[in-house]
Amino acid sequence: MSIQGVIQKVQTYYPQADVQLVQQAYLFASTAHQGQHRRSGEDYIVHPLEVATILAELQLDVVTIAAGLLHDVVEDTSFTLEDLERAFGAEIALLVDGVTKLSRIEYKSKMEQQAENLRKMFLAMAKDIRVILIKLADRLHNMRTLKHQPEEKQRECAQETLEIFAPLAHRLGIFRLKWELEDLSLRYMEPERYYELVQNISMKRQEREEFINHVIKILKEKLDEVGIDADIQGRPKHFYSIYNKMVKQGKELGEIYDLIAVRVVVESVKDCYGALGMIHAQWKPIPGRFKDYIAMPKPNMYQSLHTTLIGPSGEPFEVQIRTWDMHRTSEYGIAAHWRYKEGKNGDKDFDAKLTWLRQLLEWQRELKDAREFMESLKIDLFSDRVYVFTPKGDVVELPAGSVPLDFAYRVHTAVGNQCVGAKVSGRIVPLDYRLQTGDIVEILTSKTGRPRRDWLNIVQTSQAKNRIRQWLKKEQRDELVAKGREMLERETDKKGWYTAEALKNSNLQEAAKRFNIPTVEDLLATVGDGGLTPLQVMAKLKEAVPGLVTEAPAPLPSVKPWSGYGKPSQGIRVRGVDNVVVRLSRCCNPVPGDDIVGYITRGRGVSIHRSDCPNIAHHHDNELERIIEVAWDLEAEAIYQVHIEAVAVDRPRLAMDIMTTIADTKTIINSVHARATRNNLATVDLKIEIKSLDHLNYITEKVKRIKDVLEVKRVTPS
Ligand code: MN
Repeated sequence: MSIQGVIQKVQTYYPQADVQLVQQAYLFASTAHQGQHRRSGEDYIVHPLEVATILAELQLDVVTIAAGLLHDVVEDTSFTLEDLERAFGAEIALLVDGVTKLSRIEYKSKMEQQAENLRKMFLAMAKDIRVILIKLADRLHNMRTLKHQPEEKQRECAQETLEIFAPLAHRLGIFRLKWELEDLSLRYMEPERYYELVQNISMKRQEREEFINHVIKILKEKLDEVGIDADIQGRPKHFYSIYNKMVKQGKELGEIYDLIAVRVVVESVKDCYGALGMIHAQWKPIPGRFKDYIAMPKPNMYQSLHTTLIGPSGEPFEVQIRTWDMHRTSEYGIAAHWRYKEGKNGDKDFDAKLTWLRQLLEWQRELKDAREFMESLKIDLFSDRVYVFTPKGDVVELPAGSVPLDFAYRVHTAVGNQCVGAKVSGRIVPLDYRLQTGDIVEILTSKTGRPRRDWLNIVQTSQAKNRIRQWLKKEQRDELVAKGREMLERETDKKGWYTAEALKNSNLQEAAKRFNIPTVEDLLATVGDGGLTPLQVMAKLKEAVPGLVTEAPAPLPSVKPWSGYGKPSQGIRVRGVDNVVVRLSRCCNPVPGDDIVGYITRGRGVSIHRSDCPNIAHHHDNELERIIEVAWDLEAEAIYQVHIEAVAVDRPRLAMDIMTTIADTKTIINSVHARATRNNLATVDLKIEIKSLDHLNYITEKVKRIKDVLEVKRVTPS
C-alpha cells in the first residue's frame, strides 16, 4: 500500500478529508525513519504505512491515520514529541505519545488473572481510545510480519496478542481485528494444529463453496419473492474460534456445526424477522440453536439473529441475519464512533450506541453516573486510576494520586506497616511520590519500620488510611495497657500484695467484669488512661476474687521474741548475745517460720539450723552445750536461700516452665539444675531466694500446679 492508496481509501468514506495532513504525516515519518529497515529487509516506513492502511480500513478520522503514520517516530527516531507537536499540533502528539507509552510497557507476568489488569492498564494509559486503535493496528501488522522474528519472540508476541490485544479488540467490538489477531496468534502458538486445521478445512473447501453457493441462490430467490432486499454472503469462520470450540468442547472438526455460515444483511429489523421466517420454512432449524440478539443485544451492542439449519444433504449450517446498521457495529465496534458520518444528526443515538460501553463499568465501578462516564470516555477512560507493577510484574490498580504507601498497604498490611521507603523503576522516591501508570514499584521495608501519623495526610486509599489508623490506635492502646499494668503493680507492691498472683489474668478478668469492662486489656488501658485508679481496681479485686492472695508474706508464725535476746543480726536474735556473727546453715537452709536452733561453732559464730536438721540431731550429747536458743527477728527484712526440688514427667521446656512460673512471682532464682532420671522422669533442683516460710509454700504450690510436675519438695540434708 502506498500513501496514495491510503488517501484514496480515506476519500471513499470521507471525500472532504484533509488529505494534506495525511500527506505531511507521511513525509515526516518517511524522513524520520530514513535508512531504517525492518527485519524483513523492507524500508521501515512500510510498517507505519500498513498501520495507516488498517486504520483507514476501520474508516477512522485523518487525525488517527496521521498519528498511525507517525506512531513509531518518537520511539524509534531522533525526533521528539515536541517536534511532533510543533509540526502537527497537540492532538496528534498526544496520540503518538500514548502509543509510545504503551510500547514501553513490559509484560513480565504471564499469569492469567493479570491479563485483565494489563488490559485495563492499557485503557488507562491510552487516555484516548484512538490510541488503542492505533496500537491494535500496529500489533496487527507486527503479527502479519511475525515470521521474520526469531521463534521465541514469535511465541511471546503471539501469546501477548491472544491475552491482551485480541480481548481488547473484542471489548471494543472490532471483530475484524480480533479475528485476524487470533488466527495469527494461533498460527504461532500452535503451528501444528493451526496448519492441520487449515488443511482440513480447505480440503472440503470446494464442496463447501458449492454448498454455500447453493444456499445463497435459494435464499436470494425466496427473499426476492417476498420483496426483501438482502445482501447474502458466505462467511468464513475464523480458525481460532473453530480451534477454541474443538478444544473447549472436545469436538472433532466434523462435529462443529457452524463451519459453514451465511450472513444475510437487510434494510430493516422487520426484514430480519421476515427473512428468518422464510428461512425456517425452507430448512429445518436445529432446536435450541436459535438466538435473538436483536431483542436481547449482547453487552457489546452486537445484534443479529442466529439460527442453525439442516442443509439438503443433512449438513448443518448457520445463518446470521442483521441490518446494515447492526453489521457496521459488529465489524467496527467502537471504531465506528470515530468514523466520519455522512450527516450530523447521527449523533442522536450516540448515547444509546455506547450503552455497551457501560459494560466497561464493570472495570470501572467507581464512576458515579453515566454523565461522568461519558465525560471520561471523551478524553480519558481511566483518568481516576493508576496501574502500576510489582517487581514481579503483577499489575496493581489504585486510585489516581496514590503514593507508594497505598501500594504497600495494597500488597500487604505488614508491608505497609514496615515500609521505610520506596523505589520506583529502580530509583528511591519520597513516600509522597505520586504513582504513574506503568511504574514498577518496590517497597523497602524494615523490621523496625512503623507507621507514622503524618502518613495519614499522604495516602489516598481508604484501605491504607484505615490500616494506619488501626495501627496507631493499637499502638496507643498498647502503651496505655502497659502503663496501666505498671501503675497497678506499683500500687500492689507498695501495699505488700503478691503482685504476680493477685494481678493474674483470671483475677483481673473478674475485676473487669465487675466494672462492666469487656477485657483485661481494656481494664488496664482504663487505668493507664486515668479512668480508674489502681486502688479502685484493687478494691474490686478483693471483692471479686474470694480468697485473693494479697498480703505477703502472710503473717509469720507466732514465734514471739522474748526478752533477753540479743540484738538481731541478719534477722536472727540469739539468746543473751548481741551482734553475734550468725550464719544460716547450708545443710537445711532455714527460713523465717521454721523452728530453729543455734549451734555455736568454733570461731565462726552461731550457725542456725532447723530444729529438725539431722546434723543437729546427730550431735553428740557432749556437744549439747553448744546448742543455743535463737529466734527470728520479725521486723527485719531478710532474704534466705532455699533449695527445692521438683520431680516431673520429662518433657521439653519443663525447666523453662518452672523457672518462668517462679520468676513471675518476682522470686529470685539463684541456680537451676535439671537432670533426667529413670522412668522418663526429670528432677529440677532450684535454689531460690525467699522471704518467709509462707513465701516458700506459695512458690511450692505454684510449681506443683505446672503441667507434668509430680511433686515439689524442700530439700533437707540427709
Ligand atoms: Mn510500530
